[in-house]
Order: sequence, then structure tokens, then C-alpha cells
Amino acid sequence: MKDRYNREIDYLRVSVTQRCNLNCIYCGKSDCGKKQTELSLDEIARLVRAFALCGIHKVRVTGGEPLVRRDVTEIVERIAATPGIETVGLTTNGVLLEQYAAPLAKAGLQSVNISLDSTDGSTYRHLTGADVLGRVLRGIDEAQNAGLSPIKLNAVLMKGVNADSAPALVHLAETKPIDVRFIELMPFAENGDADQLRVTGDELLRQFPFLQPVESAENGTAVYYAAPGFLGRVGLISPVSHPFCDRCRRVRLLCDGTLKPCLAFDKTYDLKPYFNDDAALVAAIRDCIMQKPAGHAFQTAPPHHGLNRTGG
Ligand code: SAM
Repeated sequence: MKDRYNREIDYLRVSVTQRCNLNCIYCGKSDCGKKQTELSLDEIARLVRAFALCGIHKVRVTGGEPLVRRDVTEIVERIAATPGIETVGLTTNGVLLEQYAAPLAKAGLQSVNISLDSTDGSTYRHLTGADVLGRVLRGIDEAQNAGLSPIKLNAVLMKGVNADSAPALVHLAETKPIDVRFIELMPFAENGDADQLRVTGDELLRQFPFLQPVESAENGTAVYYAAPGFLGRVGLISPVSHPFCDRCRRVRLLCDGTLKPCLAFDKTYDLKPYFNDDAALVAAIRDCIMQKPAGHAFQTAPPHHGLNRTGG
């Protein structure tokens, strides 16, 4: 369906948990380990069915860390079987992907985005609080073996923390048929120094002048680049320096059954009162989509809720 700014809203992010097995320094760490209210498998299936009736075709399962939910394979299976849902993707930190990639692919998962902020073991440990880089790298291999496609690696660079990991990450896009995407650090109330830490897309283009724009069939948020001989691409996602809110097609279902029209505002709408009435649920979702703001206000009014809570 179209929102009031004439944007086609056809993409739903479903955060299935707020729990996470990492503790990344930019994400909003305070909630990582705690178990919050989580929608059940049946509730997720029912909600996704209602979203499909509102014009959602594409779903991405996220969190927290979605793979810490023991029923994640069933969640993917139920979403993939929903009439009207054409693609199901997953965003994960990859720690548990080695064991889950094949069953998830069998359940109907098509694509996977894996967060990888550094290929250097000690930088990775500093950023995430865990010594698990090897497991993540094996998870990426397993995702390829399982036939998941596309596989995209997402990195958030911060000056003085992991910005020096950029060349090795670009090298991955050169040598593997996968896209490596650099996401600008977004400001949340908890990471007040984001403006000082952020590495912008333009700074990366100056650092890697051999990267040239490439055509992309995707209608997404990343602008893609490559160089001769590259097997994959480098993507720049620049929500702060080059906002793409006018092209945003997504809304977010949080694991507590609330709907968040925009990640940059804390405002959520509770769908729980409508869980037992499909018509009322569809109407509530439509109303909420109509409340989606025109654009973010990161610079003047950053949100309080980090992405672990919002569902990245
Ligand atoms: N646990 C999963 C993962 O690690 O991919 C899914 C949730 S995580 C919140 C989703 C994405 O949000 C990650 O790629 C992470 O790097 C990104 N992210 C978290 N905080 C961010 C921030 N302040 N700015 C930009 N990206 C952020």
C-alpha cells in the first residue's frame, strides 16, 4: 500500500527477539542479554499474514540476534509459506549461521545479511565483546554452501575503532562473489558521539578512488561500486549524509507486538489489542503505515532506542 507520502510500503522487518549473543559497542548494549516479551511463532505467522494483506511482499527476519531463537527455522518456514510473501531474508551476526544456514535455506530462506565489522580478530572482539570471528567466517562459507543468495556483509565503521578494517573488507568484495556494504553509524541517544565516530560514504570513496559506480537492479538503500576484477561489490548505505527516506519502503514489527513505522523515531503502535480480529488487525496496520514520518531527524532529535531494540 502507499503511505501518505506516496511511498509504496512493501517491506517488513520482523524482529523476533531483542536478545543477542554479542554486545556491539554501537548497538544499544544495555538490553542485549535480557529476555523481553517475544511474539510466539503463531502470533508472528498471523501478523505476517495480515501484513501481506496490506501489500507487504518482502520480509526480513532480524533482532536482536534472530538465531538465538530456537524456533527461528519454523518462523522462516511459516513466513515463507504465507500467501503474498515473495522473499524472505535474514539479518544475523553470523555466530550461529554455521549450524543454521542449511536448515534455514530448506525452510525457504533466500538471502542473508551478515554483520561483519572487521576481519581482524582483536578488533572484532573489542567491538562485539566476543571472540567468535572464526565462527562467523565459517558461517559465511556455510551460507554460500547452502545456496543462500544474495549474501551481503554489513559493516559499520567507526573512527579510532575499526575504520582501519575498511581495506580488508573491500578486499573481501574483490575476492568473493558477495557484496560488502558500509553502513554509516546512525546516532542514538546512547551513542552521543556518533557524529565524531562516523565514517561517511563519501570518505570511503575518497579512500578507495578505484571504486566506480555499478548499475544495480535493486531498489534498495545501498549505492553499489566495484572495480575491474572484483567478484563482488562494495555498497554504501548513507542514511545520515545522504538520506533516502523518500525511497523508504519498510516498516518494522518489534518482538513485543508493536509496529514501528520509522527506525529514527521511538514511536511505536501496539498491535496486540487486534491479535484476535484479522479485519481490525489489517485496519490497525494500515493506520500505522499512514503515520510513517516523511523522514528522519537524526541531527536534531536522535531516537533513544538503539537497533537491538528496533530490529536492525
Ligand atoms: N544481530 C543481527 C546482526 O548483527 O546483524 C541483527 C540485528 S543488528 C541490530 C542489525 C544491523 O544494525 C547490524 O548490521 C548492525 O551493524 C546495525 N547497527 C546497529 N547499530 C547501528 C547504528 N548505530 N548505526 C548503523 N547501523 C547500526
